[in-house]
Amino acid sequence: MTFEEAGLCESLRNNISKSGYVKPTPVQKHGIPIIFAGRDLMACAQTGSGKTAAFLLPILQQLMADGVAASRFSEKQEPEAVIVAPTRELICQIYLEARKFSHGTCVRPVVVYGGVSTGHQIREILKGCNLLCGTPGRLLDMIGRGKVGLSKVRYLVLDEADRMLDMGFEPDMRRLVGAYEMPSKDNRQTLMFSATYPEDIQRMAADFLKTDYLFLA
Ligand code: AMP
Repeated sequence: MTFEEAGLCESLRNNISKSGYVKPTPVQKHGIPIIFAGRDLMACAQTGSGKTAAFLLPILQQLMADGVAASRFSEKQEPEAVIVAPTRELICQIYLEARKFSHGTCVRPVVVYGGVSTGHQIREILKGCNLLCGTPGRLLDMIGRGKVGLSKVRYLVLDEADRMLDMGFEPDMRRLVGAYEMPSKDNRQTLMFSATYPEDIQRMAADFLKTDYLFLA
């Protein structure tokens, strides 16, 4: 399967070839059509498998198809896609891939993470944000400050879910997914990625994903 056969549009394919990717990795080959079909997904995938592009590319394409640019002058941004990962390093990698792939499109990704002051991140959010990447605590902080609203979220990605649990982020994740503005699981598409699939991840998948979610190992 090629990226074209996976259903990706020309502008994304151009950005993909600029990254030097020639053909999809297995998680991309199997994951991209599932995401395009609108299904929820629990994927067991390691770092290095190409999982980041597997979830970013179809989400970006669907945001581009809507053609709605982030509203630049709004005091509160309402991203349509929220991506959560446990560490600054990981979320920044995801953000950099999102920037690379969305170059020249209406999608404006922004990243937030803890351990640094919020001023710069808030300014970046308020410049416009339709795809927000963040670590759990800092995302909740931005929501609590009223800078980010969740009512328009259509895509929610929880990456490295097992590491989020190991790092003690389960309460934050539950707070985020259960936040009052967050659309219910029937009204959003949720994608979970985890290197391992122990019982607590299975429980979280049952809580966060639609009952007919697909499992990809
Ligand atoms: P990830 O599993 O998302 O952390 O990706 C691991 C690495 O593989 C990253 O450095 C990507 O740039 C690279 N990568 C992802 N997809 C492809 C692909 N289809 N072909 C070549 N490299 C890729």
